[in-house]
Amino acid sequence: MPAQSLLVVVSGPSGSGKGTLCNMLREALPDLSYSISLTTRPPRGDEQNGVEYFFVTEEEFKKRIEAGEFLEWAEVYGYYYGTLLFTVEKLLSEGRNVLLELDTQGARMVKEIFPEAVLIFIRPPSMEELKARITKRGTDDQAAINKRLSCAPDELEAARSYDYLVDNNLKEQAFADLLNIIEREKSARRRG
Ligand code: 5GP
Repeated sequence: MPAQSLLVVVSGPSGSGKGTLCNMLREALPDLSYSISLTTRPPRGDEQNGVEYFFVTEEEFKKRIEAGEFLEWAEVYGYYYGTLLFTVEKLLSEGRNVLLELDTQGARMVKEIFPEAVLIFIRPPSMEELKARITKRGTDDQAAINKRLSCAPDELEAARSYDYLVDNNLKEQAFADLLNIIEREKSARRRG
């Protein structure tokens, strides 16, 4: 990985607001490239293939695992999700900074492969708020909501090994915190 490049991994429980914050980062920081993951989950709401994810069948996903195409992959909330090695290597070789939005298993794997990766965990104010946000989103049925909420305690536990925790009580404050972290990490790399 080029010494000056930044590989940022953002995680957080479903409903923590990490998707919104990552979209804000992508808009604010044109030098940060987002690697689009593959998933076997069906599209949600108005998601489009090739924008939020590449939506693939389980058969195709498994073929790609066999072919060794993934930098990391994980089974999350009953579906497969994975990051293509080719995509990340290409972006890094072009000197780009890269943003990955991963579950905690994927984040751990990336940190093993790239110890310089910066792991940021988005923490929701409370379980009640998490439930309210995920329900308000209106894109998941009750079974999916329950499955996602039931994973939150383990995800919060895994957050202990992250480099940064960002509290998402107020979206604007959380966004400012993220920008500060990225700026700090960028200048540390510039100093070498
Ligand atoms: P969602 O279904 O809400 O879009 O994502 C579910 C979970 O999968 C989230 O925690 C999200 O960060 C994670 N995720 C998305 N893409 C990837 C990926 O490529 N690899 C891994 N390990 N997790 C992912």
